[in-house]
Formats: sequence, C-alpha cells, structure tokens
Amino acid sequence: MAFQTSKDTKYNQLVLSDITVIKELLTFRGSIDDTNFNQGACATNSLKMNTDVISLFADLDELIKKSLNEEQIKLLSYITKDYSNYTIAKILGIPVKTIGSRFNTICLKIKQENDRQWRKVTYINKLRLKTKICSKCREFLPATDEFFSLNNSSKDLFHSQCKKCKK
Ligand SMILES: [Zn+2]
Repeated sequence: MAFQTSKDTKYNQLVLSDITVIKELLTFRGSIDDTNFNQGACATNSLKMNTDVISLFADLDELIKKSLNEEQIKLLSYITKDYSNYTIAKILGIPVKTIGSRFNTICLKIKQENDRQWRKVTYINKLRLKTKICSKCREFLPATDEFFSLNNSSKDLFHSQCKKCKK
C-alpha cells in the first residue's frame, strides 16, 4: 500500500495474529468486496474503514502468497467466492468432510507466517540481532535457530538455507 505507515503495519500484524479474525476476514471477504470496495468516496467514516480494510487485505494477500501452496490457494478462492462445501469438494476431488479442517490449516498457516514476519522485523529492527541471508530465497533473516536449522559443521552453526527453503 502506497500510503501505509509503519504504524499501520503494526496494527495489521496485531490483527492478523488472531486466527478468528483471519477466519472471519477470509470467509466474509466476498461480501466485503461487493458492499464496501466498490462504493468509493462517500462518507468519511466508511472511506476510513475502506482504507483500513484494504490495507488489511493487502497484508493478508502477502501472507497467503508466502505461506500457502497452490491447492490451498485454490480452496481458499472458492471459499471466498462463497461456494458450498459440496461444490468445492466436487471441483477439487476431495472428501467434503475434510474441507473444514483444511480451511483451519490454511488459517493457522497464515497466522504462523504473520507471527514469523513480526518476529523477524522485531529481532532485526528492535533487538538488532545479527542477520544472515538465505542462500536460496535470498531473504535477510535473523541468524537464530528459529529461522535457520543448526549445523555444527558450518562456521556460524547454521545451515546456509533458511528453514522454509530447506523443508
Ligand atoms: Zn530461504
């Protein structure tokens, strides 16, 4: 978001660390898109809310890209479009009764990625911990065993690839 400040980011990270909020946002996204996004400039209040909601969804999209696999993204897009569980199961060729737990897994993965990003920023900017660049994704990450698994044969004790890439 062009107008996003660091304050907004903190607020979004706080909001998106709650799994219930993530679930609600994803479930009701379709109706929010229709009723609020397209109304444009009306009352100041709703415009303010729109900006907040839009920046929240922008952050949510980033987390979705970073944490979910293709199948999960597909499933999520059908849930957002308000397809019934039966329809989704038919399209994806999966049992209907697994959809609830698959959606829970999706929400949990988004929450974990949000919290991971939050700790990453805090460790680097506030605690000023040493960083290490992952040899695969080229992301600067705190040099801690949360982000890199330990490797006693390497000089700095960490593997060269981050935990996410090494999976
Ligand atoms: Zn990596």
